Amino acid sequence: MTKEEIIRKYKQYLFPSVSTYYSEPLVTDHANMQYVWDVEGKKYLDFFGGIVTISVGHANPRITSKVKAQVDKLQHASTVFPNEGIVALAEKIARLTPGEISQSYFTNSGTEANEMAIQLARAHTGNFEIIALRHGYSGRSQLAQSLTGQNTWRQSLPAGFGVVHAMNPYCYRCPLGKTYPDCGVACASDVEAVIQTSTSGRIAGFIAEPIQGVGGFITPPPEYFKIVFRTVKQYGGDFIADEVQTGWGRTGRKWFGIEQWEVTPDIITAAKGLANGAPVGATFTRPEIAASFRGLQISTFGGNPVTCVAAKATLDLIEEDNLLENAHVVGSYFREGLEGLKDKYPLIGDVRGMGLMQGIELVKDPVTKEPAPQETAQLMEEARRAGLLIGKGGLWGNVIRMSPPMNISKGDVDEAIRLLDRALAAVEQTRHATVGAR
Ligand code: PMP
Repeated sequence: MTKEEIIRKYKQYLFPSVSTYYSEPLVTDHANMQYVWDVEGKKYLDFFGGIVTISVGHANPRITSKVKAQVDKLQHASTVFPNEGIVALAEKIARLTPGEISQSYFTNSGTEANEMAIQLARAHTGNFEIIALRHGYSGRSQLAQSLTGQNTWRQSLPAGFGVVHAMNPYCYRCPLGKTYPDCGVACASDVEAVIQTSTSGRIAGFIAEPIQGVGGFITPPPEYFKIVFRTVKQYGGDFIADEVQTGWGRTGRKWFGIEQWEVTPDIITAAKGLANGAPVGATFTRPEIAASFRGLQISTFGGNPVTCVAAKATLDLIEEDNLLENAHVVGSYFREGLEGLKDKYPLIGDVRGMGLMQGIELVKDPVTKEPAPQETAQLMEEARRAGLLIGKGGLWGNVIRMSPPMNISKGDVDEAIRLLDRALAAVEQTRHATVGAR
């Protein structure tokens, strides 16, 4: 099929709510390690990794060779028949997860992982109410949408009962108008205020992303989650860390984002990068919490042998190549480059993130901080033209999200910064031309 045919059929046969990037969608053809090619043969440096999912490079032969062998051996049998793949993966995860977390429940997506986590916290605590954060993203099911704190990703449908939202630790746009560190991390007290005013006072749990992904890589001050953890415990809840984006070394030097904040959660959810592109979701917890979930459970494809082999190979590779360290070293180098671009372009209001999860928030004016969604959309187009794939996010669509494979080098970062610089210069030129024409 030609590019035009694919785009036309995409619009004709898929739900229109399946959104695509760019004014003309980019039709992918193939990919290799940090590069993606479109159907017309144009090559792109991929600094988004299929939405924080390609952890160790597209079609990495160290993963695909094992996947291919497993497809030929056993594609599917379901969890009613144990197999080596699921056990080897669960054992490995038990070694990597913090505290006493050692049991896994496998599904197919982050949405399902979060669904399971909420049900689990409710079963374990005997309480019902859940605290989530504004600007958070939890998935697309009815419950996951109810947990989500962005109108962009919620339908006008009755929300799941028993979910209330607290302020998020968004330092660049502090919901309390304060400045860190003089603020004393006052936003963290909102979790207690919400529990006291909007719940029965006994909660099932609290769910949050250690760095809010879709929300625009919103990174909390280091104290935030420690304070919140104490509150959650005081009111009887389980602490759920949604590691769908931050897991598996992405933030550098730690396997999980929540470990950066020195909190040991009760429940962890994962998806995306765990299997380097094979569909996976997983919920991890301590045995006594897992045991509180009564009744039978099955997810037909959850723990699929091919997916489990892909996930185990991904984790093995991350460990063997010490990519936790690479994410820190190359991520810090990337951060320096982005800070340099911020000094050059007033359009960049904030640079944030951790490791190889870095974002820039674009504003029309650094003083008023008015969000710049049109400029962000243009930057996406210009970056594409320059040969760089980046992602978009934030409540106002004005944050660029970058999450390249964790095995990139400083040379790849140099190239990405060069291409971003070129794209930013083009956006600046348009802005000046528009201002001049007024
Ligand atoms: N949690 C977070 C933090 C996510 O970023 C996402 C996906 N963007 C999800 C949950 C839902 O995952 P999925 O799309 O696999 O259902």
